Amino acid sequence: MTPEHQKLLKITEATAKKLEKLHLQTPWDVVLHLPLRYEDETHIMPIKDAPLGVPCQVEGEVIHQEVRFKPRKQLIVQIRDDGGSVLFLRFIHFYPSHQKQMAEGKRIRAVGEIKHGFYGSEMIHPKIRDAENSGLAESLTPVYPSVNGLNQPTLRRIVQTALEAVSLHDTLPDELLGRLKLPHLAESLRLLHAPPPEYGIYQLSDGTLPAWQRLKFDELLAQQLSMRLARQKRVSGQAKPLTGTGAWSDKLLAALPFGLTQAQQRVLSEIRVDMAQTHPMHRLLQGDVGSGKTIVAALAALTAVEAGFQVAVMAPTEILAEQHYLKFKQWFEPLGLAVARLSGSQRKKAKEQNKAAISDGLAPIAVGTHALFQDDVQFQRLGLVIVDEQHRFGVAQRLALKNKGSDVHQLMMSATPIPRTLAMSFFADLDVSVIDELPPNRTPVKTRLVNSARRAEVEGFVLNTCRKGQQVYWVCPLIEESEVLQLQTAVDTLAELQTALPELTVGLVHGRMKAAEKAAVMDEFSSGRLNVLVATTVIEVGVDVPNASLMVIEHAERMGLAQLHQLRGRVGRGAAVSTCVLLFSEPLSDLAKARLKVIYEHTDGFEIARQDLNIRGPGEFLGARQSGVPMLRFANLEEDLYLLEHAREIAPRLIAERPDIVEAHLARWLASRENYLGV
Ligand code: ADP
Ligand code: MG
Repeated sequence: MTPEHQKLLKITEATAKKLEKLHLQTPWDVVLHLPLRYEDETHIMPIKDAPLGVPCQVEGEVIHQEVRFKPRKQLIVQIRDDGGSVLFLRFIHFYPSHQKQMAEGKRIRAVGEIKHGFYGSEMIHPKIRDAENSGLAESLTPVYPSVNGLNQPTLRRIVQTALEAVSLHDTLPDELLGRLKLPHLAESLRLLHAPPPEYGIYQLSDGTLPAWQRLKFDELLAQQLSMRLARQKRVSGQAKPLTGTGAWSDKLLAALPFGLTQAQQRVLSEIRVDMAQTHPMHRLLQGDVGSGKTIVAALAALTAVEAGFQVAVMAPTEILAEQHYLKFKQWFEPLGLAVARLSGSQRKKAKEQNKAAISDGLAPIAVGTHALFQDDVQFQRLGLVIVDEQHRFGVAQRLALKNKGSDVHQLMMSATPIPRTLAMSFFADLDVSVIDELPPNRTPVKTRLVNSARRAEVEGFVLNTCRKGQQVYWVCPLIEESEVLQLQTAVDTLAELQTALPELTVGLVHGRMKAAEKAAVMDEFSSGRLNVLVATTVIEVGVDVPNASLMVIEHAERMGLAQLHQLRGRVGRGAAVSTCVLLFSEPLSDLAKARLKVIYEHTDGFEIARQDLNIRGPGEFLGARQSGVPMLRFANLEEDLYLLEHAREIAPRLIAERPDIVEAHLARWLASRENYLGV
């Protein structure tokens, strides 16, 4: 927090540091630090009318005080109110000052919840005030999220100071507010920070209260405005239009053992229309696991190459980059097109050679991890960037990508479907194509939930599957706390399977292996030399071995829905009937039960994503930190859909007609959030 801000808020640097721990950097942030809940100290409740288990304030004379030592040391105070009812107040932690404050004969007020306790009606650790020297509160008392060393009265004082210090003029015109039936901002904030006593303390926490709706609307509007401006900026930017001749893509199509599905053809033409524009494409290609995004990407890449440009294909993990590299090489080399490859773990010499091929333009296509976008990699004529599983990239990597090519076309691919509401709000600057059809002749994967006590039966199933000439993935549990532990379980599982199934060849791939070792094992598996592949979740994305027809996932109860769906998508890619066995261990948490039920009942990735969103909420769904998408603080995309729709409708009109409002609104809401535009 700057010294000016500290001065405005009348706080010391030490206090400012504490506010920063609450992510409060400016007076405006403080104004938006809204209460968690409220307490009512505006009126006195007769003890006999006070409801149980609800915070309330009572007042009475202390008629008895004593310290008892059984069952443990505690201070017991008895008060009697004007109606003659008696209440016990009980303190387990207390100081002599408490005893003095509540001496017999004193008139005190106590705020807390009344419960039926050991001594009859009692309050435990109520907040105590001297009734003679303090008036009743005029507004309800807000209780804020806080940190150690910052007490509620101080925080309340700072918020009140901020409310005075910050200009709360309305950025939105009265006509608009009237139409949406929303109150003014100043009024809304004052209400929420210091509500008059006629409001109920629960009513105030209800998001449908107009004051809350106003804040939510402002937040959603700011987000829509910034996204639209980002789109305008992109659309007015320059990029080389890439129109293909069809020379190479037709050859590749002719060489494929299959034809494209209707859905693949449709999305490919959507992508090609975008690529032919003079501004950068920003398109997300969504399709369930196994829907065939890679070939679409390859054909889009060929279009760029036909137009005389280079293509970068970026994958989030080395294994996936390797897979893409092999696939692209298999498709492109027969056409006489060289594919370069860059990864972090490559030997220096190989890296230099590949970099040279990229900068000389000898390689029209480069596949790799984010190593592709390190500073010393120079493309000769980069025209298209394809990013697979884009949600798995961190913010830094996406920024690197952005800096590399603000003027190139971008195609992002994701198998984690983004539900409509999320796409609408967070990806307003992203056009979306959806492959909503699986390639023909896929047999749906059967899902089995099996208690891990029946592991031996599952091993028998593994043996039978392999005897039919098919292959098996065995995925080891995710152990978040420790990669070493996770590796240990994988090693143990390998040993156990080798002992139990001596007739099978079992291999192991895990996150700690060198890239070359991983590639070697993956290669053994895809070529069929291994029957069973034991893996930590590194195989989660993208691996494509059609002969694998059984997937066993251990401790499935620890995994998220998206991850389970992705894993399951590794089987069911060939003609054989495929099975996914989810081993679980009891006891199951409610969340785990809910997740297993969803994955058992559904195979459609979009439906699973929708359910996931319901279970987890959008914040966790997107993984705010990982995705770099700033989450909404006030609005909730499911509950406040109608506000989002209004914001979406109003944003373009404001941009067209009232740039002054747009500027003021964004200045206020995005001041400390330069990343709001999304990376
Ligand atoms: P994902 O969308 O999960 O990335 P892939 O691109 O890896 O899926 O495709 C999954 C499998 O389906 C691959 O083996 C691919 O060759 C095959 N495939 C893709 N399109 C078709 C199609 N139209 N007909 C038959 N098989 C296809
Ligand atoms: Mg894929």
